[in-house]
Amino acid sequence: MPARTGAQYIAGLKEQATKVFIHGEQVEDVTSHPALRNGVNTLAGLYDMQHDPKLKDQMTYVSPDTGQRVGLSFITPKTKEDLEQRHTMMANWAKVTCGMMGRTPDFMNVTMMAMASAGDYFAQNRPEFKKNIQDYFTYIRENDLVLTHTLVNLQRSRAPLATLLEDQTDVALSVVKETDAGVVVRGPRLLATLGPLADEIAVYPARNHRLPADAQEKYSFAFAIPCNTPGLKFLCRESFDLGRSHFDHPLASRFEEMDAIVFFDDVLVPWERVFLLGDVELCNGVSEKTNRNIHSGHQVVTKQVVKCEFVLGLANMMVETLGSGQIPQVQQMIAEVIENLEVMKACLRASEADAALDQWGVMCPSQMPLRVARNMFIRMYPRMAEILHLLGSSSLMALPTEADLSGPLAKDIEQYLDTDTASAEERIRLFRLAWDTCCSAFASRQVLYERYFGGDSLRNAIILYGLYDKQPMTQWVREFVDQE
Ligand SMILES: Cc1cc2nc3c(=O)[nH]c(=O)nc-3n(C[C@H](O)[C@H](O)[C@H](O)COP(=O)(O)OP(=O)(O)OC[C@H]3O[C@@H](n4cnc5c(N)ncnc54)[C@H](O)[C@@H]3O)c2cc1C
Repeated sequence: MPARTGAQYIAGLKEQATKVFIHGEQVEDVTSHPALRNGVNTLAGLYDMQHDPKLKDQMTYVSPDTGQRVGLSFITPKTKEDLEQRHTMMANWAKVTCGMMGRTPDFMNVTMMAMASAGDYFAQNRPEFKKNIQDYFTYIRENDLVLTHTLVNLQRSRAPLATLLEDQTDVALSVVKETDAGVVVRGPRLLATLGPLADEIAVYPARNHRLPADAQEKYSFAFAIPCNTPGLKFLCRESFDLGRSHFDHPLASRFEEMDAIVFFDDVLVPWERVFLLGDVELCNGVSEKTNRNIHSGHQVVTKQVVKCEFVLGLANMMVETLGSGQIPQVQQMIAEVIENLEVMKACLRASEADAALDQWGVMCPSQMPLRVARNMFIRMYPRMAEILHLLGSSSLMALPTEADLSGPLAKDIEQYLDTDTASAEERIRLFRLAWDTCCSAFASRQVLYERYFGGDSLRNAIILYGLYDKQPMTQWVREFVDQE
């Protein structure tokens, strides 16, 4: 099947009928449930872009297997131009969501591409696992499926560990049985962003939550299965899409990507969907050795650039509307957003300029600029939300709703809430967007997401510290110190 349309994506979700629970009840149909349907529709719109005659060439490429056009985020990059094309495609999707849906399907498409390309890594575990991961990647590319993923085990205690990067396994997802048909897994995982909106779920090891070296083999695996596999249950958090208009909740009414805890209740994973099993060391090495984290970093930083651009445009409109552009500290705060944007752009460009073919024959972006960009964004994004607070101040609360514009106080609103540059309605429309970016429940989740979705800042700093080759600089300084 070539790249899907939005209608095909929605039809697939309807048919699949995954077990999704929210607000104390089971969802009958995620495509029509008020808490989820708008997020589904936004994703459907992204799929439709693949068929827009003006965008088709940017959004799709010719499948190496079928000759049909498939989503470009599935491309196995062989050249730097391939990476740039992939970046353009991913930026097109990110722009639609103002960078507010971190887990558009390109995130997992590039991840699975990296793991499939490194098939020989999985073959070290069992030869057939190479075929499994490669067949699976071909399957999702040719069927244009949406994947969610869940990497982290629940932690019962956060008592200091020998190494923060290792998780205890007392409430971990584990293999409880092997049968002729496959492996049976039991336990919880968190989180699965996009889980209720996805066709398939992938489970594989995280780099920053490793298994202890002496962990039992039953905790080490990688696999992917349909979200409607028997025994699989998704428990959603409260929805931030409250059914309000685009005017009132401009972001939450469009971009609810939902986060869910996943319960695996004796779920059978067929052998052909198992990519790794029972080898703690190989499990812990997946991220580093397959470069999956670098390719997902390429998607993430592409999205961060778009998100910074969005915040800059929004901040500047707020300043223009409030007439505060001459105030030095306002200029300083806008300058800070510009710095963030330019640093993200520079890291993205550096990662592409210094890309090189890896041992799997894939053109791999340079790791360090992406890693640094991701670590820095954990601090940048909460600060940018704070800057929006400081720029908006009471305008983020003196904020009537759409209904108020035609309510009993409509005249007062029109008379008093305009500014030198904006009518009352223009001001309210803009500041409702600012509110949904930095104040609402949706906004608060964005800050939490950026802080944690790729692992917390401390674990990521420890990884960067360990990876970075500090010796050349250290040696240089040593020589300088030793000079007579
Ligand atoms: C909105 C959102 C979406 C997410 N989506 C996904 C997803 O789609 N897929 C997925 O797999 N995961 C997802 N996650 C989970 C994410 O991977 C984790 O949040 C992240 O790895 C951090 O783990 P944690 O939340 O358990 O934090 P914690 O481990 O509790 O860390 C919190 C803080 O405590 C510190 N800390 C913890 N333990 C110790 C200790 N023993 N000693 C010293 N300091 C300690 C940490 O350094 C950190 O600063 C998501 C998270 C969020 C918030």
